[in-house]
Amino acid sequence: MTSRPLIAGNWKMNLNREAATHLAQELAGAVGAAAAFEMAVCPPAPYLVPVAEVLGGSLVALGAQDCHAAASGAHTGDVSAAMLQDVGCTYVIVGHSERRADHGETDEQVRAKAAAARAAGLVPIVCVGETESQRDAGTTLDVVGRQIAGSIPDGLDGATLVVAYEPVWAIGTGRTPTVDDVAAVHAHIRKTLSARTADAPGVRILYGGSVKPSNAVELLAVANVDGALVGGASLKAADFLAIARSV
Ligand code: PEP
Repeated sequence: MTSRPLIAGNWKMNLNREAATHLAQELAGAVGAAAAFEMAVCPPAPYLVPVAEVLGGSLVALGAQDCHAAASGAHTGDVSAAMLQDVGCTYVIVGHSERRADHGETDEQVRAKAAAARAAGLVPIVCVGETESQRDAGTTLDVVGRQIAGSIPDGLDGATLVVAYEPVWAIGTGRTPTVDDVAAVHAHIRKTLSARTADAPGVRILYGGSVKPSNAVELLAVANVDGALVGGASLKAADFLAIARSV
């Protein structure tokens, strides 16, 4: 990995306009050029523009939580990657397990979204992760390897792709895998990525799932963990900054 670890906040379907812009303001004012991390926030779609206005000129990057695979057209309620780029996004999360579960998104669809993101100049944050029953069945590495193989377009590199390993059972539950389990999955992702990109060592692999200030130091110190994707704890500036400063 050559770039700084990425600490990305997934605000999901939370906050209102005032709270979102206030949170963005607190973060923008706190992240300086000497930071050892790169920070990004992914607000709900309606707040991308007001948050972009607050973040303008700051070192906090803007991301979205999803995009459609098509460039434009008859897709009511959806948002294209080009639109996200147009309003100031650098990143877009694709294949989050909540979208895979709520909207039945397949690896193939996630891959198409990641390719659309790249075509629009965005960096996709491609999410993978096993369910609790898959972990209990001992199939975690197979499941995650298959998701990597199926969800990532060819030809990306460390500057154009971020991967997030998010065990589904760890999201929003307060539970996390052991550091040894995180290390094993991240090493497997790195190995599997080499079939998809010549720059597997350069791709940042984030850990996500109940990251909080109290566990960030140990999770971020694991080999092949190049940052974090943070849900609940990204909604409070103090907690999110404490996680980032654990890098
Ligand atoms: C997420 O859903 O991306 C996530 C990591 O959530 P949390 O941190 O709340 O577990």
